[in-house]
Amino acid sequence: MSSYLGIDLGGTIVKLGLVRGGKVLATERVAADSQAGLGRMLGPVGEAADRLLAGVNDLAGVALAFPGIVDFPARRAASTNAKYNDAPDIDVEGWVRDRYQVPFVMDNDARMALIGEWTCGAGRGTSHMVMMTIGTGIGTGVVIDGRPLYGRNGCAGSLGGHLVVDYRGRRCTCGNVGCVEAHSASFFLPQIVGEDTALSEAFRTDSANYNYKTLFDKYRAGDPDATRVVRGCMDVWAAGIVNYIHAYDPEKVVIGGGIMRSADIILPYLREKVYSLAWCPISKPEIVASERGDDAALLAAEYYFKHA
Ligand SMILES: [Zn+2]
Repeated sequence: MSSYLGIDLGGTIVKLGLVRGGKVLATERVAADSQAGLGRMLGPVGEAADRLLAGVNDLAGVALAFPGIVDFPARRAASTNAKYNDAPDIDVEGWVRDRYQVPFVMDNDARMALIGEWTCGAGRGTSHMVMMTIGTGIGTGVVIDGRPLYGRNGCAGSLGGHLVVDYRGRRCTCGNVGCVEAHSASFFLPQIVGEDTALSEAFRTDSANYNYKTLFDKYRAGDPDATRVVRGCMDVWAAGIVNYIHAYDPEKVVIGGGIMRSADIILPYLREKVYSLAWCPISKPEIVASERGDDAALLAAEYYFKHA
Protein backbone atom coordinates (compact mmCIF):
# COMPACT_ATOMS: atom_id res chain seq x y z
CA MET A 1 0.00 0.00 0.00
CA SER A 2 1.22 3.49 -0.86
CA SER A 3 0.77 6.90 0.74
CA TYR A 4 -0.66 9.99 -0.93
CA LEU A 5 -0.59 13.68 -0.12
CA GLY A 6 -3.81 15.69 -0.44
CA ILE A 7 -3.68 19.49 -0.38
CA ASP A 8 -6.96 21.39 -0.05
CA LEU A 9 -6.52 25.02 -0.98
CA GLY A 10 -9.18 26.88 1.01
CA GLY A 11 -9.78 30.62 1.06
CA THR A 12 -8.33 31.13 4.55
CA ILE A 13 -6.72 27.76 5.37
CA VAL A 14 -4.71 25.28 3.35
CA LYS A 15 -5.21 21.80 4.76
CA LEU A 16 -2.78 19.02 3.96
CA GLY A 17 -3.37 15.35 4.68
CA LEU A 18 -1.36 12.17 4.47
CA VAL A 19 -3.75 9.58 3.04
CA ARG A 20 -3.42 5.83 3.03
CA GLY A 21 -5.97 3.02 2.78
CA GLY A 22 -9.00 5.34 2.86
CA LYS A 23 -7.82 7.12 6.00
CA VAL A 24 -6.31 10.51 6.69
CA LEU A 25 -3.37 9.53 8.89
CA ALA A 26 -2.09 13.02 9.73
CA THR A 27 -2.85 16.61 8.79
CA GLU A 28 -1.21 20.01 8.74
CA ARG A 29 -2.90 23.39 8.42
CA VAL A 30 -1.41 26.57 7.01
CA ALA A 31 -3.08 29.97 7.32
CA ALA A 32 -3.75 31.34 3.84
CA ASP A 33 -4.70 34.56 2.15
CA SER A 34 -6.28 33.60 -1.15
CA GLN A 35 -6.21 37.26 -2.26
CA ALA A 36 -2.41 37.27 -1.98
CA GLY A 37 -2.21 34.43 -4.51
CA LEU A 38 -0.94 30.88 -4.80
CA GLY A 39 2.68 31.80 -5.58
CA ARG A 40 3.19 33.16 -2.07
CA MET A 41 1.64 30.04 -0.51
CA LEU A 42 3.95 27.48 -2.11
CA GLY A 43 6.76 28.12 0.41
CA PRO A 44 4.70 27.56 3.59
CA VAL A 45 2.69 24.73 1.98
CA GLY A 46 5.93 23.01 0.98
CA GLU A 47 7.26 23.27 4.55
CA ALA A 48 4.02 21.81 5.94
CA ALA A 49 4.17 19.00 3.37
CA ASP A 50 7.75 18.22 4.37
CA ARG A 51 6.72 17.95 8.03
CA LEU A 52 3.87 15.61 7.07
CA LEU A 53 6.06 13.48 4.84
CA ALA A 54 9.00 13.16 7.24
CA GLY A 55 9.72 9.43 7.50
CA VAL A 56 7.26 8.54 4.69
CA ASN A 57 9.07 6.52 2.02
CA ASP A 58 6.15 5.29 -0.08
CA LEU A 59 4.65 8.57 -1.35
CA ALA A 60 2.97 7.73 -4.67
CA GLY A 61 1.17 10.93 -5.63
CA VAL A 62 0.12 14.45 -4.71
CA ALA A 63 -3.38 15.81 -5.39
CA LEU A 64 -4.35 19.48 -5.10
CA ALA A 65 -7.96 20.57 -4.52
CA PHE A 66 -8.36 23.96 -6.20
CA PRO A 67 -11.22 26.43 -5.59
CA GLY A 68 -11.85 27.26 -9.24
CA ILE A 69 -12.14 25.65 -12.64
CA VAL A 70 -9.33 23.22 -13.37
CA ASP A 71 -8.07 21.96 -16.72
CA PHE A 72 -7.87 18.41 -15.39
CA PRO A 73 -5.86 16.77 -18.22
CA ALA A 74 -3.37 19.67 -18.15
CA ARG A 75 -3.19 19.63 -14.33
CA ARG A 76 -3.50 23.42 -14.21
CA ALA A 77 -5.96 25.99 -12.91
CA ALA A 78 -8.04 27.30 -15.83
CA SER A 79 -10.20 30.01 -14.26
CA THR A 80 -10.46 31.56 -10.83
CA ASN A 81 -13.23 33.40 -9.02
CA ALA A 82 -11.64 35.88 -6.59
CA LYS A 83 -9.34 33.26 -5.01
CA TYR A 84 -5.71 32.55 -5.98
CA ASN A 85 -6.04 34.56 -9.17
CA ASP A 86 -2.39 33.94 -10.11
CA ALA A 87 -2.88 30.14 -10.17
CA PRO A 88 -3.36 29.68 -13.96
CA ASP A 89 0.23 30.95 -14.42
CA ILE A 90 1.80 28.66 -11.84
CA ASP A 91 3.28 25.27 -12.70
CA VAL A 92 2.33 23.36 -9.55
CA GLU A 93 3.04 20.06 -11.26
CA GLY A 94 6.64 21.12 -11.89
CA TRP A 95 6.93 22.26 -8.29
CA VAL A 96 5.71 18.86 -7.03
CA ARG A 97 7.94 16.94 -9.45
CA ASP A 98 11.04 18.87 -8.40
CA ARG A 99 10.26 18.46 -4.74
CA TYR A 100 8.92 14.89 -4.46
CA GLN A 101 9.42 13.17 -7.85
CA VAL A 102 5.87 11.74 -7.84
CA PRO A 103 2.80 12.12 -10.10
CA PHE A 104 0.49 15.08 -9.55
CA VAL A 105 -3.18 15.81 -10.17
CA MET A 106 -5.20 18.97 -9.69
CA ASP A 107 -8.98 18.97 -9.56
CA ASN A 108 -11.82 21.24 -8.56
CA ASP A 109 -12.18 21.21 -4.77
CA ALA A 110 -15.89 20.38 -4.77
CA ARG A 111 -15.27 17.47 -7.15
CA MET A 112 -12.54 16.20 -4.83
CA ALA A 113 -14.91 16.43 -1.86
CA LEU A 114 -17.41 14.48 -3.95
CA ILE A 115 -14.84 11.77 -4.72
CA GLY A 116 -13.88 11.53 -1.03
CA GLU A 117 -17.51 11.14 0.04
CA TRP A 118 -18.16 8.70 -2.80
CA THR A 119 -15.21 6.44 -2.02
CA CYS A 120 -15.02 6.79 1.78
CA GLY A 121 -18.12 8.58 3.06
CA ALA A 122 -21.84 9.21 2.61
CA GLY A 123 -21.87 8.18 -1.05
CA ARG A 124 -20.09 4.85 -0.59
CA GLY A 125 -21.60 2.11 -2.75
CA THR A 126 -23.57 4.41 -5.03
CA SER A 127 -23.09 4.69 -8.80
CA HIS A 128 -24.98 7.96 -9.14
CA MET A 129 -24.59 10.82 -6.69
CA VAL A 130 -24.43 14.57 -6.44
CA MET A 131 -22.57 16.46 -3.76
CA MET A 132 -23.27 20.08 -2.94
CA THR A 133 -20.82 21.92 -0.66
CA ILE A 134 -22.29 25.07 0.85
CA GLY A 135 -20.02 27.82 2.19
CA THR A 136 -18.58 31.12 0.98
CA GLY A 137 -19.54 29.81 -2.44
CA ILE A 138 -21.44 26.71 -3.51
CA GLY A 139 -19.52 23.87 -5.12
CA THR A 140 -20.91 20.72 -6.68
CA GLY A 141 -19.69 17.46 -8.12
CA VAL A 142 -21.39 14.53 -9.79
CA VAL A 143 -20.82 10.78 -10.04
CA ILE A 144 -22.81 9.24 -12.87
CA ASP A 145 -22.77 5.62 -14.09
CA GLY A 146 -20.06 4.84 -11.54
CA ARG A 147 -17.58 7.57 -12.52
CA PRO A 148 -16.96 11.19 -11.61
CA LEU A 149 -18.41 13.43 -14.31
CA TYR A 150 -15.95 15.70 -16.17
CA GLY A 151 -17.31 16.55 -19.63
CA ARG A 152 -15.35 18.04 -22.51
CA ASN A 153 -13.51 20.70 -20.50
CA GLY A 154 -13.72 19.18 -17.06
CA CYS A 155 -16.51 21.56 -16.03
CA ALA A 156 -19.45 19.15 -16.07
CA GLY A 157 -21.07 18.85 -12.67
CA SER A 158 -18.80 21.53 -11.19
CA LEU A 159 -20.95 24.57 -11.82
CA GLY A 160 -24.06 23.64 -9.85
CA GLY A 161 -23.57 26.78 -7.76
CA HIS A 162 -24.01 28.73 -10.98
CA LEU A 163 -27.20 27.14 -12.24
CA VAL A 164 -29.77 29.90 -12.58
CA VAL A 165 -32.65 29.92 -10.11
CA ASP A 166 -33.85 33.46 -10.89
CA TYR A 167 -33.15 34.87 -14.34
CA ARG A 168 -34.06 38.34 -13.09
CA GLY A 169 -32.04 37.89 -9.93
CA ARG A 170 -28.85 39.18 -8.36
CA ARG A 171 -25.61 39.62 -10.31
CA CYS A 172 -23.18 36.82 -9.42
CA THR A 173 -19.38 36.97 -9.17
CA CYS A 174 -19.25 34.63 -12.20
CA GLY A 175 -20.84 37.26 -14.46
CA ASN A 176 -24.22 35.54 -14.72
CA VAL A 177 -27.43 36.62 -13.03
CA GLY A 178 -29.55 34.74 -10.50
CA CYS A 179 -27.18 31.84 -9.72
CA VAL A 180 -27.83 29.50 -6.76
CA GLU A 181 -24.65 30.97 -5.27
CA ALA A 182 -25.71 34.62 -5.68
CA HIS A 183 -28.94 33.91 -3.81
CA SER A 184 -27.71 31.70 -0.99
CA ALA A 185 -23.91 31.48 -0.50
CA SER A 186 -22.45 33.12 2.58
CA PHE A 187 -20.39 35.55 0.48
CA PHE A 188 -23.69 37.14 -0.59
CA LEU A 189 -25.39 37.25 2.83
CA PRO A 190 -24.71 40.99 3.31
CA GLN A 191 -26.52 41.67 0.02
CA ILE A 192 -29.25 39.08 0.65
CA VAL A 193 -30.03 40.72 3.99
CA GLY A 194 -29.31 44.32 3.01
CA GLU A 195 -31.50 44.30 -0.12
CA ASP A 196 -34.55 42.55 1.38
CA THR A 197 -36.95 45.36 2.24
CA ALA A 198 -39.34 42.91 3.91
CA LEU A 199 -36.83 42.55 6.77
CA SER A 200 -36.90 44.92 9.72
CA GLU A 201 -34.75 48.02 9.54
CA ALA A 202 -32.84 47.01 12.67
CA PHE A 203 -32.00 43.59 11.23
CA ARG A 204 -30.85 45.05 7.91
CA THR A 205 -28.63 47.63 9.59
CA ASP A 206 -26.47 44.75 10.78
CA SER A 207 -26.33 43.12 7.34
CA ALA A 208 -22.53 43.17 7.03
CA ASN A 209 -22.12 41.08 10.18
CA TYR A 210 -24.27 38.04 9.44
CA ASN A 211 -22.96 34.64 8.62
CA TYR A 212 -24.75 31.29 8.51
CA LYS A 213 -23.94 30.59 12.15
CA THR A 214 -25.42 33.81 13.48
CA LEU A 215 -28.45 33.44 11.24
CA PHE A 216 -29.14 29.85 12.26
CA ASP A 217 -28.67 30.79 15.93
CA LYS A 218 -31.28 33.53 15.54
CA TYR A 219 -33.52 31.16 13.58
CA ARG A 220 -33.39 28.68 16.46
CA ALA A 221 -34.30 31.51 18.82
CA GLY A 222 -37.40 32.22 16.70
CA ASP A 223 -36.26 35.54 15.23
CA PRO A 224 -38.71 36.28 12.36
CA ASP A 225 -36.15 38.13 10.21
CA ALA A 226 -33.56 35.35 10.52
CA THR A 227 -36.32 32.82 9.78
CA ARG A 228 -37.12 34.62 6.53
CA VAL A 229 -33.46 34.72 5.45
CA VAL A 230 -32.68 31.11 6.45
CA ARG A 231 -35.81 29.77 4.73
CA GLY A 232 -34.98 31.86 1.68
CA CYS A 233 -31.50 30.26 1.48
CA MET A 234 -32.90 26.77 2.03
CA ASP A 235 -35.50 27.37 -0.70
CA VAL A 236 -32.67 28.30 -3.08
CA TRP A 237 -30.71 25.15 -2.10
CA ALA A 238 -33.86 23.12 -2.69
CA ALA A 239 -34.31 24.69 -6.14
CA GLY A 240 -30.68 23.88 -6.93
CA ILE A 241 -31.10 20.29 -5.77
CA VAL A 242 -34.24 19.85 -7.89
CA ASN A 243 -32.16 20.99 -10.88
CA TYR A 244 -29.38 18.54 -9.99
CA ILE A 245 -31.88 15.70 -9.66
CA HIS A 246 -33.45 16.50 -13.01
CA ALA A 247 -30.03 16.81 -14.66
CA TYR A 248 -28.16 13.87 -13.11
CA ASP A 249 -30.73 11.37 -11.76
CA PRO A 250 -28.75 10.55 -8.58
CA GLU A 251 -29.36 7.89 -5.95
CA LYS A 252 -28.05 10.25 -3.29
CA VAL A 253 -27.61 13.96 -2.85
CA VAL A 254 -24.89 14.60 -0.25
CA ILE A 255 -24.71 18.04 1.34
CA GLY A 256 -21.47 19.28 2.91
CA GLY A 257 -19.95 22.38 4.45
CA GLY A 258 -19.73 23.78 7.98
CA ILE A 259 -23.40 24.68 7.58
CA MET A 260 -24.29 21.04 8.21
CA ARG A 261 -23.82 21.64 11.93
CA SER A 262 -27.44 22.71 11.44
CA ALA A 263 -28.34 19.50 9.58
CA ASP A 264 -31.21 18.97 12.05
CA ILE A 265 -32.92 22.02 10.51
CA ILE A 266 -31.64 21.78 6.94
CA LEU A 267 -32.20 18.12 6.02
CA PRO A 268 -35.89 17.80 6.98
CA TYR A 269 -36.66 21.13 5.31
CA LEU A 270 -34.85 20.22 2.08
CA ARG A 271 -36.34 16.72 1.93
CA GLU A 272 -39.88 18.00 2.23
CA LYS A 273 -39.35 20.79 -0.28
CA VAL A 274 -37.34 18.82 -2.84
CA TYR A 275 -39.62 15.78 -2.76
CA SER A 276 -42.64 18.03 -3.32
CA LEU A 277 -40.99 19.78 -6.29
CA ALA A 278 -38.80 17.24 -8.11
CA TRP A 279 -40.14 14.94 -10.78
CA CYS A 280 -38.88 11.51 -9.77
CA PRO A 281 -41.52 8.98 -10.81
CA ILE A 282 -39.36 5.86 -10.42
CA SER A 283 -37.41 6.48 -7.23
CA LYS A 284 -36.54 9.47 -5.06
CA PRO A 285 -32.91 10.16 -4.21
CA GLU A 286 -31.85 10.22 -0.58
CA ILE A 287 -30.77 13.62 0.73
CA VAL A 288 -28.06 13.20 3.39
CA ALA A 289 -25.25 15.05 5.16
CA SER A 290 -21.60 14.50 4.27
CA GLU A 291 -19.73 12.15 6.61
CA ARG A 292 -16.10 13.09 6.08
CA GLY A 293 -16.32 16.86 6.54
CA ASP A 294 -13.03 18.65 5.87
CA ASP A 295 -11.26 15.36 5.15
CA ALA A 296 -13.35 14.51 2.08
CA ALA A 297 -11.25 16.40 -0.48
CA LEU A 298 -8.01 15.03 1.00
CA LEU A 299 -9.28 11.45 0.81
CA ALA A 300 -9.79 11.84 -2.94
CA ALA A 301 -5.99 11.95 -3.38
CA GLU A 302 -5.80 8.17 -3.21
CA TYR A 303 -8.55 7.67 -5.79
CA TYR A 304 -6.79 9.38 -8.70
CA PHE A 305 -3.62 7.33 -8.58
CA LYS A 306 -5.41 4.04 -8.09
CA HIS A 307 -7.79 4.72 -11.00
CA ALA A 308 -5.47 6.46 -13.43
ZN1 LIG B 1 -22.74 32.52 -10.78
